[in-house]
Amino acid sequence: MSQKLVIKNIGQMLSGKMEDPILDADCLIAIDGKIAQWGKERDLDCDGADTVVDAKGVTLAPGLIDSHIHPVVGDYTPRQQQLHWIDSTLNGGVTTLISAGEVHMPGRPKDVVGLKAMAIAAQRWYENFRPSGVKVHAGAPVIEHGMEEQDFKDLADAGVTLMGEVGLGTVKDGKTARQMVDWARKYGIQSTIHTGGPSIPGSGLIDADMVLETGTDVVGHINGGHSALPDDQIICLCESCKAALEIVHNGNERAALLTLNTARELGKLDQVILGTDGPAGSGVQPLGILRMIAMLSSLGNVPAEIAFCFGNGNTARQRKLDTGLIEAGFCADFVLMDQAQHAPGNTLLESVQLGNLPGVGMTIIDGVVRTGRSRNTPPANRLPEVVTG
Ligand SMILES: [Zn+2]
Repeated sequence: MSQKLVIKNIGQMLSGKMEDPILDADCLIAIDGKIAQWGKERDLDCDGADTVVDAKGVTLAPGLIDSHIHPVVGDYTPRQQQLHWIDSTLNGGVTTLISAGEVHMPGRPKDVVGLKAMAIAAQRWYENFRPSGVKVHAGAPVIEHGMEEQDFKDLADAGVTLMGEVGLGTVKDGKTARQMVDWARKYGIQSTIHTGGPSIPGSGLIDADMVLETGTDVVGHINGGHSALPDDQIICLCESCKAALEIVHNGNERAALLTLNTARELGKLDQVILGTDGPAGSGVQPLGILRMIAMLSSLGNVPAEIAFCFGNGNTARQRKLDTGLIEAGFCADFVLMDQAQHAPGNTLLESVQLGNLPGVGMTIIDGVVRTGRSRNTPPANRLPEVVTG
Protein backbone atom coordinates (compact mmCIF):
# COMPACT_ATOMS: atom_id res chain seq x y z
CA MET A 1 0.00 0.00 0.00
CA SER A 2 1.41 3.34 -1.00
CA GLN A 3 1.33 6.25 1.45
CA LYS A 4 -0.14 9.48 0.15
CA LEU A 5 0.52 12.88 1.71
CA VAL A 6 -1.45 15.94 0.59
CA ILE A 7 -0.45 19.43 1.72
CA LYS A 8 -3.20 21.96 0.99
CA ASN A 9 -3.66 25.71 1.38
CA ILE A 10 0.01 26.48 0.86
CA GLY A 11 0.30 30.27 0.75
CA GLN A 12 3.60 30.31 -1.08
CA MET A 13 5.87 27.56 -2.37
CA LEU A 14 9.62 28.09 -2.62
CA SER A 15 11.39 25.76 -5.06
CA GLY A 16 15.05 25.84 -3.98
CA LYS A 17 15.88 26.86 -7.55
CA MET A 18 17.51 30.26 -8.03
CA GLU A 19 16.28 30.43 -11.63
CA ASP A 20 12.64 30.00 -10.56
CA PRO A 21 12.47 30.46 -6.78
CA ILE A 22 8.71 30.89 -6.26
CA LEU A 23 6.25 28.38 -7.71
CA ASP A 24 2.64 29.09 -8.63
CA ALA A 25 1.18 26.36 -6.45
CA ASP A 26 -1.02 25.96 -3.38
CA CYS A 27 -0.94 22.18 -3.05
CA LEU A 28 1.65 19.40 -3.09
CA ILE A 29 1.24 15.64 -3.19
CA ALA A 30 3.87 13.12 -2.11
CA ILE A 31 3.63 9.38 -2.60
CA ASP A 32 5.74 7.02 -0.49
CA GLY A 33 7.91 9.88 0.72
CA LYS A 34 8.70 11.27 -2.74
CA ILE A 35 7.37 14.44 -4.35
CA ALA A 36 4.78 13.46 -6.97
CA GLN A 37 2.88 16.60 -8.02
CA TRP A 38 2.34 20.23 -7.13
CA GLY A 39 0.15 23.00 -8.49
CA LYS A 40 -3.34 24.31 -7.92
CA GLU A 41 -5.42 22.08 -5.68
CA ARG A 42 -8.32 22.06 -8.15
CA ASP A 43 -6.05 20.52 -10.80
CA LEU A 44 -4.64 17.75 -8.58
CA ASP A 45 -6.03 14.42 -7.42
CA CYS A 46 -6.16 14.86 -3.66
CA ASP A 47 -8.43 11.87 -2.96
CA GLY A 48 -7.39 8.89 -0.88
CA ALA A 49 -4.74 10.64 1.17
CA ASP A 50 -3.38 8.91 4.25
CA THR A 51 -2.26 12.25 5.66
CA VAL A 52 -3.63 15.70 4.87
CA VAL A 53 -1.86 18.80 6.11
CA ASP A 54 -3.72 22.11 6.04
CA ALA A 55 -0.87 24.59 5.60
CA LYS A 56 -3.16 27.47 6.66
CA GLY A 57 -1.60 29.79 4.11
CA VAL A 58 2.01 29.51 5.26
CA THR A 59 5.12 29.11 3.08
CA LEU A 60 6.46 25.68 2.14
CA ALA A 61 10.12 25.27 1.21
CA PRO A 62 12.33 22.26 0.65
CA GLY A 63 13.93 21.21 3.93
CA LEU A 64 17.12 23.11 4.70
CA ILE A 65 20.50 21.43 4.34
CA ASP A 66 23.48 22.09 6.59
CA SER A 67 26.52 21.46 4.40
CA HIS A 68 29.03 21.44 7.25
CA ILE A 69 28.61 19.72 10.60
CA HIS A 70 30.81 17.71 12.93
CA PRO A 71 28.68 14.92 14.40
CA VAL A 72 30.02 12.14 16.58
CA VAL A 73 27.39 9.64 17.56
CA GLY A 74 23.61 9.68 17.78
CA ASP A 75 22.16 12.97 18.96
CA TYR A 76 25.03 13.74 21.30
CA THR A 77 28.12 15.89 20.87
CA PRO A 78 30.99 15.74 23.32
CA ARG A 79 32.26 19.08 21.94
CA GLN A 80 29.90 21.08 24.17
CA GLN A 81 28.55 18.14 26.19
CA GLN A 82 25.23 18.60 24.45
CA LEU A 83 22.33 16.24 23.92
CA HIS A 84 19.64 16.52 21.22
CA TRP A 85 21.42 19.16 19.18
CA ILE A 86 20.20 17.49 15.97
CA ASP A 87 16.59 17.53 17.17
CA SER A 88 17.05 21.21 17.98
CA THR A 89 18.40 21.78 14.48
CA LEU A 90 15.35 20.08 12.97
CA ASN A 91 13.32 22.65 14.92
CA GLY A 92 15.32 25.20 12.89
CA GLY A 93 14.00 23.76 9.62
CA VAL A 94 17.04 21.63 8.75
CA THR A 95 16.23 18.13 7.50
CA THR A 96 19.64 17.05 6.12
CA LEU A 97 23.10 17.34 7.67
CA ILE A 98 26.43 16.67 5.97
CA SER A 99 29.50 15.75 7.98
CA ALA A 100 32.82 17.45 7.37
CA GLY A 101 34.49 14.92 9.65
CA GLU A 102 33.71 13.26 12.98
CA VAL A 103 36.63 15.12 14.50
CA HIS A 104 35.21 15.56 17.98
CA MET A 105 35.22 11.85 18.78
CA PRO A 106 37.31 11.49 21.93
CA GLY A 107 40.33 9.32 21.12
CA ARG A 108 39.72 9.62 17.37
CA PRO A 109 42.04 7.11 15.66
CA LYS A 110 44.71 8.65 13.44
CA ASP A 111 46.33 5.47 12.14
CA VAL A 112 45.10 4.46 8.70
CA VAL A 113 43.26 1.28 9.63
CA GLY A 114 41.68 2.98 12.64
CA LEU A 115 40.48 6.07 10.78
CA LYS A 116 39.01 3.92 8.03
CA ALA A 117 37.20 1.77 10.57
CA MET A 118 35.76 4.82 12.31
CA ALA A 119 34.62 6.41 9.06
CA ILE A 120 32.83 3.25 8.01
CA ALA A 121 31.27 2.85 11.45
CA ALA A 122 30.10 6.49 11.50
CA GLN A 123 28.56 6.13 8.04
CA ARG A 124 26.70 3.06 9.31
CA TRP A 125 25.48 4.36 12.64
CA TYR A 126 23.90 7.42 11.05
CA GLU A 127 22.48 5.38 8.19
CA ASN A 128 20.90 3.03 10.73
CA PHE A 129 19.76 5.71 13.16
CA ARG A 130 18.33 9.07 12.14
CA PRO A 131 17.98 11.36 15.14
CA SER A 132 14.36 12.64 15.09
CA GLY A 133 14.23 11.56 11.45
CA VAL A 134 17.01 13.92 10.31
CA LYS A 135 19.20 12.60 7.50
CA VAL A 136 22.83 12.68 8.61
CA HIS A 137 25.36 11.96 5.89
CA ALA A 138 28.39 11.01 7.94
CA GLY A 139 31.48 8.85 7.82
CA ALA A 140 33.89 11.50 6.56
CA PRO A 141 37.47 10.38 7.24
CA VAL A 142 40.11 12.98 8.02
CA ILE A 143 43.08 12.21 5.80
CA GLU A 144 46.43 11.38 7.36
CA HIS A 145 49.87 10.68 5.93
CA GLY A 146 50.33 7.09 4.85
CA MET A 147 46.98 6.68 3.09
CA GLU A 148 47.20 5.08 -0.33
CA GLU A 149 44.88 4.75 -3.30
CA GLN A 150 43.64 1.36 -2.11
CA ASP A 151 42.45 2.95 1.14
CA PHE A 152 40.09 5.26 -0.75
CA LYS A 153 38.84 2.35 -2.83
CA ASP A 154 38.23 0.36 0.37
CA LEU A 155 36.32 3.28 1.90
CA ALA A 156 34.19 3.79 -1.19
CA ASP A 157 33.48 0.06 -1.49
CA ALA A 158 32.31 0.13 2.13
CA GLY A 159 29.84 2.94 1.48
CA VAL A 160 31.83 6.06 2.40
CA THR A 161 30.91 9.01 0.15
CA LEU A 162 32.49 11.97 1.94
CA MET A 163 35.91 13.10 3.02
CA GLY A 164 36.46 15.15 6.17
CA GLU A 165 37.95 18.63 5.92
CA VAL A 166 41.44 18.52 4.47
CA GLY A 167 43.79 20.12 6.97
CA LEU A 168 42.33 18.72 10.18
CA GLY A 169 44.71 15.77 10.05
CA THR A 170 48.47 15.58 9.49
CA VAL A 171 48.24 16.28 5.75
CA LYS A 172 48.96 20.00 5.52
CA ASP A 173 50.75 20.26 2.14
CA GLY A 174 48.94 20.82 -1.14
CA LYS A 175 50.77 18.12 -3.08
CA THR A 176 49.85 15.23 -0.76
CA ALA A 177 46.33 16.58 -0.26
CA ARG A 178 45.81 16.89 -4.02
CA GLN A 179 46.86 13.28 -4.55
CA MET A 180 44.40 12.04 -1.92
CA VAL A 181 41.56 14.23 -3.17
CA ASP A 182 42.14 12.86 -6.68
CA TRP A 183 42.02 9.28 -5.37
CA ALA A 184 38.86 10.07 -3.41
CA ARG A 185 37.22 11.62 -6.48
CA LYS A 186 38.17 8.62 -8.62
CA TYR A 187 36.08 6.43 -6.31
CA GLY A 188 33.16 8.85 -5.95
CA ILE A 189 34.09 10.37 -2.58
CA GLN A 190 33.32 14.10 -2.28
CA SER A 191 35.93 16.34 -0.69
CA THR A 192 36.07 19.56 1.30
CA ILE A 193 38.81 21.63 2.92
CA HIS A 194 39.28 23.72 6.05
CA THR A 195 39.78 27.22 4.60
CA GLY A 196 41.36 29.90 6.81
CA GLY A 197 43.12 30.02 10.13
CA PRO A 198 43.19 27.30 12.80
CA SER A 199 39.77 26.60 14.34
CA ILE A 200 40.77 24.97 17.61
CA PRO A 201 44.15 23.99 19.04
CA GLY A 202 45.57 21.28 16.78
CA SER A 203 44.26 22.55 13.47
CA GLY A 204 46.28 24.77 11.14
CA LEU A 205 46.19 27.55 8.55
CA ILE A 206 45.00 26.77 5.04
CA ASP A 207 45.53 29.64 2.62
CA ALA A 208 44.15 30.23 -0.86
CA ASP A 209 47.17 28.67 -2.57
CA MET A 210 46.64 25.42 -0.67
CA VAL A 211 42.89 25.44 -1.39
CA LEU A 212 43.57 25.92 -5.10
CA GLU A 213 46.33 23.30 -5.22
CA THR A 214 44.17 20.74 -3.38
CA GLY A 215 41.15 21.24 -5.64
CA THR A 216 38.40 19.91 -3.38
CA ASP A 217 34.75 19.76 -4.48
CA VAL A 218 33.75 22.21 -1.75
CA VAL A 219 35.70 25.23 -0.48
CA GLY A 220 34.80 24.52 3.14
CA HIS A 221 33.94 27.59 5.22
CA ILE A 222 35.36 30.12 2.78
CA ASN A 223 34.55 32.74 5.46
CA GLY A 224 36.78 30.98 7.99
CA GLY A 225 35.97 28.78 10.93
CA HIS A 226 36.29 31.29 12.61
CA SER A 227 39.44 33.11 11.35
CA ALA A 228 38.97 34.15 7.72
CA LEU A 229 41.66 34.57 5.09
CA PRO A 230 42.61 38.11 4.02
CA ASP A 231 40.13 39.69 1.57
CA ASP A 232 42.34 39.32 -1.50
CA GLN A 233 42.59 35.57 -0.95
CA ILE A 234 38.82 35.17 -0.56
CA ILE A 235 38.28 37.14 -3.76
CA CYS A 236 40.89 35.00 -5.51
CA LEU A 237 39.08 31.82 -4.41
CA CYS A 238 35.74 33.14 -5.66
CA GLU A 239 37.34 34.01 -9.00
CA SER A 240 39.30 30.78 -9.44
CA CYS A 241 37.05 28.08 -8.05
CA LYS A 242 34.38 26.11 -9.80
CA ALA A 243 33.78 24.35 -6.48
CA ALA A 244 30.98 25.13 -4.06
CA LEU A 245 31.67 28.27 -2.00
CA GLU A 246 30.52 27.32 1.48
CA ILE A 247 29.64 30.07 3.96
CA VAL A 248 29.24 29.00 7.59
CA HIS A 249 27.61 30.38 10.72
CA ASN A 250 30.70 29.57 12.79
CA GLY A 251 32.71 31.95 10.61
CA ASN A 252 33.48 35.58 10.00
CA GLU A 253 30.30 37.46 9.00
CA ARG A 254 32.20 40.21 7.20
CA ALA A 255 34.03 37.61 5.12
CA ALA A 256 30.67 35.94 4.44
CA LEU A 257 29.36 39.17 2.94
CA LEU A 258 32.56 39.66 0.95
CA THR A 259 32.12 36.16 -0.49
CA LEU A 260 28.48 36.83 -1.32
CA ASN A 261 29.17 40.16 -3.01
CA THR A 262 32.13 38.77 -4.96
CA ALA A 263 30.18 35.71 -6.08
CA ARG A 264 27.32 37.95 -7.22
CA GLU A 265 29.66 40.18 -9.26
CA LEU A 266 31.10 37.06 -10.89
CA GLY A 267 27.66 35.58 -11.64
CA LYS A 268 28.46 32.64 -9.34
CA LEU A 269 25.65 32.80 -6.79
CA ASP A 270 24.69 29.24 -7.77
CA GLN A 271 27.94 28.10 -6.12
CA VAL A 272 27.03 29.61 -2.73
CA ILE A 273 25.99 27.02 -0.13
CA LEU A 274 25.50 27.22 3.64
CA GLY A 275 26.64 25.34 6.72
CA THR A 276 26.91 25.93 10.42
CA ASP A 277 30.23 24.13 11.16
CA GLY A 278 28.59 23.12 14.42
CA PRO A 279 29.10 21.64 16.93
CA ALA A 280 32.17 23.81 17.29
CA GLY A 281 33.95 26.00 19.76
CA SER A 282 31.12 28.48 19.29
CA GLY A 283 28.58 25.85 20.29
CA VAL A 284 25.70 24.34 18.36
CA GLN A 285 23.48 26.53 16.21
CA PRO A 286 19.96 25.12 15.92
CA LEU A 287 18.83 28.19 13.95
CA GLY A 288 22.16 28.62 12.18
CA ILE A 289 20.97 28.09 8.63
CA LEU A 290 17.94 30.37 9.08
CA ARG A 291 20.20 32.98 10.66
CA MET A 292 22.60 32.80 7.70
CA ILE A 293 19.71 33.20 5.27
CA ALA A 294 18.38 36.26 7.12
CA MET A 295 21.87 37.76 7.51
CA LEU A 296 22.85 37.31 3.86
CA SER A 297 19.46 38.47 2.61
CA SER A 298 19.36 41.59 4.77
CA LEU A 299 22.99 42.75 4.84
CA GLY A 300 23.86 41.30 1.41
CA ASN A 301 20.78 42.65 -0.35
CA VAL A 302 19.67 39.32 -1.74
CA PRO A 303 15.94 38.67 -2.21
CA ALA A 304 14.94 36.27 0.55
CA GLU A 305 13.63 33.68 -1.92
CA ILE A 306 17.15 33.53 -3.43
CA ALA A 307 18.84 33.42 -0.02
CA PHE A 308 16.70 30.37 0.84
CA CYS A 309 18.17 28.61 -2.23
CA PHE A 310 21.64 28.92 -0.66
CA GLY A 311 20.30 26.80 2.20
CA ASN A 312 18.58 24.07 0.22
CA GLY A 313 18.63 23.84 -3.59
CA ASN A 314 22.17 25.05 -4.20
CA THR A 315 23.57 22.61 -1.66
CA ALA A 316 21.48 19.77 -3.09
CA ARG A 317 22.81 20.45 -6.58
CA GLN A 318 26.42 20.94 -5.55
CA ARG A 319 26.33 17.77 -3.46
CA LYS A 320 24.09 15.74 -5.77
CA LEU A 321 21.38 15.02 -3.18
CA ASP A 322 17.80 13.94 -3.89
CA THR A 323 16.39 16.51 -1.47
CA GLY A 324 16.37 20.31 -1.17
CA LEU A 325 14.42 20.99 -4.37
CA ILE A 326 10.79 20.79 -5.43
CA GLU A 327 11.35 18.17 -8.09
CA ALA A 328 9.34 15.08 -9.01
CA GLY A 329 10.87 11.99 -7.43
CA PHE A 330 12.85 14.00 -4.89
CA CYS A 331 12.40 13.30 -1.17
CA ALA A 332 9.36 14.93 0.41
CA ASP A 333 11.48 16.88 2.91
CA PHE A 334 9.94 20.24 3.77
CA VAL A 335 9.89 23.10 6.20
CA LEU A 336 6.65 25.05 6.62
CA MET A 337 7.08 28.52 8.01
CA ASP A 338 5.39 31.87 8.36
CA GLN A 339 6.29 35.40 9.29
CA ALA A 340 7.23 35.55 12.95
CA GLN A 341 4.76 37.31 15.23
CA HIS A 342 5.40 41.07 15.33
CA ALA A 343 8.28 40.84 12.83
CA PRO A 344 8.35 43.92 10.57
CA GLY A 345 7.51 43.55 6.88
CA ASN A 346 4.32 42.74 5.00
CA THR A 347 5.21 39.15 4.12
CA LEU A 348 7.44 36.32 5.29
CA LEU A 349 10.00 37.11 2.59
CA GLU A 350 9.99 40.82 3.41
CA SER A 351 10.49 40.10 7.10
CA VAL A 352 13.47 37.84 6.31
CA GLN A 353 14.95 40.46 4.01
CA LEU A 354 14.71 42.87 6.93
CA GLY A 355 16.91 40.47 8.89
CA ASN A 356 14.26 38.61 10.88
CA LEU A 357 13.91 34.87 11.31
CA PRO A 358 10.79 33.08 10.11
CA GLY A 359 8.71 31.05 12.53
CA VAL A 360 8.86 27.34 11.71
CA GLY A 361 5.47 25.65 12.05
CA MET A 362 6.16 22.14 10.80
CA THR A 363 8.86 19.90 9.37
CA ILE A 364 8.30 16.89 7.13
CA ILE A 365 10.90 14.26 6.19
CA ASP A 366 10.26 11.52 3.64
CA GLY A 367 6.59 12.48 3.62
CA VAL A 368 6.20 12.07 7.39
CA VAL A 369 5.37 14.98 9.72
CA ARG A 370 8.26 15.16 12.20
CA THR A 371 7.68 18.33 14.21
CA GLY A 372 4.93 20.88 14.74
CA ARG A 373 5.50 24.36 16.03
CA SER A 374 9.21 24.90 16.51
CA ARG A 375 10.39 25.19 20.09
CA ASN A 376 13.33 27.29 18.90
CA THR A 377 12.20 29.87 16.34
CA PRO A 378 10.11 32.92 17.20
CA PRO A 379 6.42 31.92 17.05
CA ALA A 380 4.85 32.08 13.59
CA ASN A 381 1.69 34.04 12.81
CA ARG A 382 -0.08 30.98 11.42
CA LEU A 383 0.53 27.29 12.05
CA PRO A 384 -0.10 24.36 9.70
CA GLU A 385 -2.14 21.49 11.04
CA VAL A 386 -2.53 17.79 10.31
CA VAL A 387 -6.24 17.35 9.53
CA THR A 388 -6.27 13.65 8.64
CA GLY A 389 -3.82 10.89 9.17
ZN1 LIG B 1 37.08 23.64 9.53
